Amino acid sequence: PFRLSDKSRSLKPSATVAVASRALELQRQGLDIISMSVGEPDFDTPAHIKEAGMRAIRDGQTKYTPVSGLPELREAISEKFRRENGLVHAPDSVTVTNGGKQALFNAFFALLNPGDEVLIPAPYWVSYPEMVALTGAVPVPVPTTPESGFMLDMDVLASRVTPRTRMIVLNSPGNPTGAVFTPEILQAVAELAQQRGLMIVTDEIYEHLVYDVPQVSIGTFAPEHTLTVNGASKAYAMTGWRIGYAGGPKSVIAAMNALQSQSTSNASSISQHAALAALAQHEETTAFIDMARHAYRQRRDIIVHGLNALGLRTPTPQGAFYVMADTTPIHHNELEAARILLNEAHVAVVPGTDFAAPRQVRLSYATSMENIQEVLRRLGNVINR
Ligand code: PLP
Repeated sequence: PFRLSDKSRSLKPSATVAVASRALELQRQGLDIISMSVGEPDFDTPAHIKEAGMRAIRDGQTKYTPVSGLPELREAISEKFRRENGLVHAPDSVTVTNGGKQALFNAFFALLNPGDEVLIPAPYWVSYPEMVALTGAVPVPVPTTPESGFMLDMDVLASRVTPRTRMIVLNSPGNPTGAVFTPEILQAVAELAQQRGLMIVTDEIYEHLVYDVPQVSIGTFAPEHTLTVNGASKAYAMTGWRIGYAGGPKSVIAAMNALQSQSTSNASSISQHAALAALAQHEETTAFIDMARHAYRQRRDIIVHGLNALGLRTPTPQGAFYVMADTTPIHHNELEAARILLNEAHVAVVPGTDFAAPRQVRLSYATSMENIQEVLRRLGNVINR
């Protein structure tokens, strides 16, 4: 009686889902599963931000907002880009979306035609190639290696450029690798984009979670060629509020707004007021970010050291809250390794399969130190059996 569209059927079923649903099943059976698979901060949203959300409800700020977001929020984002990133985006070159995810979705649909090629450093966050493919464009992975700490290699990147290349997607600090690209590499990518007339879409959602190195916005090198995407989810522990934003060339922002006007209209008015507090009361917010960064850094050091000591080779990531462990000592296939860890150690991890990261699994350390210690103990039991 009905059939699903070609587009919806073209979405790749996630290999990750199988492991995640098995984890739930085991949990329902009453087993004590520790999840190292989540992609969100374990901290609560800071009080001053929650308070602003509640105030917005009480004050009746509960109606549609402009498609591109509240003017005062766009003003605050414009100021944030200037203050924290050295980027100049007037409020009318800024748009507010339902999470960073929708900003990316709108950007790809605003910029890509079928057949266009999009360079994506791999291992990558799964949504990039899937969203790009939905537009009819072609995702082109640019491999990086664990040996280099997943650093982008300019020669490899340049070798993937063809006459059809339209865009480069960057995510630094990156999910799943935690890699932070150096200012020199970012400058070289910016020069390549300028020479070849490419658009850079840079997803800087983990910008505040960097540990030993500076975080630089590539938009400072090639402002005309860069769309900067960011959001409230990871920095302010606001994943459920669904606030993302982007700044870039006015024509691109206008096209993104047109798309949004015919899909979701605007991000939640209540969440926009909360995000405004996060940006405007920035001393309180900075204190929260500093606290979180300090905690993540300690956890990172413990988990990287622990995994390497167990013989699971794990580069030290410079940012975000993920590590990539080589699970060859457990099984040569990462899906199998993830299954073994779940069934025998009762630890849920994400196999690298969907990230284009064979023989590796991703562990998120956005969880308590206690859990991390227990996970290392359980892994040790399985490996040393
Ligand atoms: N970009 C990256 C690299 C992510 O890991 C995530 C979330 O996992 C997002 C974007 C999207 O976050 P949100 O839509 O909550 O802003």
